[in-house]
Formats: sequence, structure tokens, C-alpha cells
Amino acid sequence: MTKLQEPKYVYMGGGLRSWDEATLHIGCEAVTRSLNVFEGLKGYWQAAGPFGIVQLRYHYERLRRSARLLHIPFDTTFYEYQGALALLVEALLEPDRDMWFRTTLYAVEGHWGEDTVADLVITGYHQEMRAPDPIALGVSTWRRSPDTSLPARIKAGSNYQVARLARMEGRVLGCQDMVLLNHSGRVAEATGSCIVMVREGVIYTPPATEGALESITLDIVEALAKSMDIPFARRPIDRTELLVADEIALCGTLAELILVTSIEGLPLNGEAPLLRALQARYFRAVRNIEPHPFVELSVLNSRKAAGPGA
Ligand code: PMP
Repeated sequence: MTKLQEPKYVYMGGGLRSWDEATLHIGCEAVTRSLNVFEGLKGYWQAAGPFGIVQLRYHYERLRRSARLLHIPFDTTFYEYQGALALLVEALLEPDRDMWFRTTLYAVEGHWGEDTVADLVITGYHQEMRAPDPIALGVSTWRRSPDTSLPARIKAGSNYQVARLARMEGRVLGCQDMVLLNHSGRVAEATGSCIVMVREGVIYTPPATEGALESITLDIVEALAKSMDIPFARRPIDRTELLVADEIALCGTLAELILVTSIEGLPLNGEAPLLRALQARYFRAVRNIEPHPFVELSVLNSRKAAGPGA
């Protein structure tokens, strides 16, 4: 059974609190209607010593867009957002572990869209410094909700109800993650990441309009692929195209690039030469071993690692 980490500190109400103090009232809309929007960010120990958060400004901007679409007021400036993260980084960072952060706006006051007030809460979790294990991927009977009901473009906690159901379905099938199709039966995304596939040397991914989050990692992967002369295209993908793909991977801030070993029980070429090369390039970029102009790393810690290793 997965046990969630319980970090010592959480950022909430404008400052640091202990894990046990970080609670919400049962009467607020964050609890009664799952009214929250969030971002997952990743920080890596850099080859040269400091700790860097990937694409911080992009995450801030997407949080702003999610809040706007749900009419949640968000008046935190980028510098305040960065400062809040820095405070938590200073409190929790450990020398030889990377971190994943969740920055969430919880609706703590208001009712049915009147007088909504949100609190910025940041949690940080430690992560091992290694590439993710490859997985078996299934295709869920649950669908990504359309733009007219619960838009995938909004990164809201409530969007993950269907993802939870799909993961439970996958567990029974022996799949570590599941593809969510859209209402036209085409590929949208996975439960917490986007999908890329390779066919005849070209990397394809569905555009966000197919029912995927506007992924920040996909933009990095596209930029890396282009600089490696690997063709990359965004276009709709049928379910059966996935079943005959040469290579498949999941792609996201937390997923990074997860290679897929089988799709709906059909084995894939375990070598995955293109996506494996891209995965290696991704890690070299986010650890600043081989910087890439598109990959921005925000250093928030004043202390340096004793010796991070690459
Ligand atoms: N889709 C979903 C449903 C996600 O939760 C994520 C992770 N944030 C992604 C896609 C990938 O987005 P990103 O690359 O911005 O992390």
C-alpha cells in the first residue's frame, strides 16, 4: 500500500505551518465542492550544486489560467509565489533527494461563486534521484470529460475523479496507468500525464483540444526533440494507432518520461530507442548537465548541496 509522505512543514495562510496544523474547514467550498486548482512542480539537484525548479513561471501562469476559468480570485504575484516556494524549499530540502511540489489554491471562503477567497497552500515531497520504471499501460472505459462539462484545460482537483476511477480499473488489469479516451473515442491523455507515441520515426501527441491538459513538459519534450532532429507533431490519435505504435511514453512534470512496455496487453519494443534517447536528454537538461535554452531552472535555495551527484 502506498503511504503518503508527511513532510514536517506546509506553506499555508501566508507562512509555514506544521503538517498537523494544515487543515481546512469542512464548510468551505474546497471541501464541499472540491473547489481547488493546482500545479505540480518538480525541483532537481543541479549538476553544479544548487537546486532548481523547472519552468516555474509557466506553472504560475497555468495556475492563474485555471483560477481564472473557475472564477477563483488569485492576486498572488509571481514573486510572492516564488518566495512562498523558496520558504518551503529552505525548510524541507535534503541533500540527495529531489522534490515534487503541489501548489494549490483552495477556496476557503465564498458560496456558489460569490465572495470567493482562496488560500495558496504548498506541499513538498521528497523524491529519489532516478528515472521512473517502465510501465504497462491500459485503456480505460472511463472518458476524459469534454470541454463543455469539466474542461481538461483546467487543472482542478475535481478533474481527477475520473483519473482515480481509471487507475482503480487499471489496478485490476495489472496496468500501472490508463489512457483516457475523449468522447469521440480518440486518445486524450493518461490519468496524470500526457501521451506521446512514435510511428516510423515521428513523435506524435494529441493536441490539448482532444481533451488533454496543456502540458508544460510536452513543450519541453517538443523543444528537445526538435533540437535532436526528431520530427514531432501534434495531431489526433486513434486508439488503434496506439496499439500499433512503435514506442509509447507518458510525459509530465512528475512522470517526466515514463516508457511503456505494453499497451492493452500487447508488448511494445522494449528498446524504445527514440523515447529512451529523449528521456536521457530530458534528465540532462533538468539537471543542467547539458542545458537547453527552453528549459528554465529557478534556483530557490541559498544553501548548496554537499555533493548532489548527477
Ligand atoms: N495531464 C494531466 C491530467 C496531468 O495531471 C498532468 C500533470 N500535471 C499532465 C497532463 C502533464 O502536465 P505537465 O507536463 O504540465 O506536468
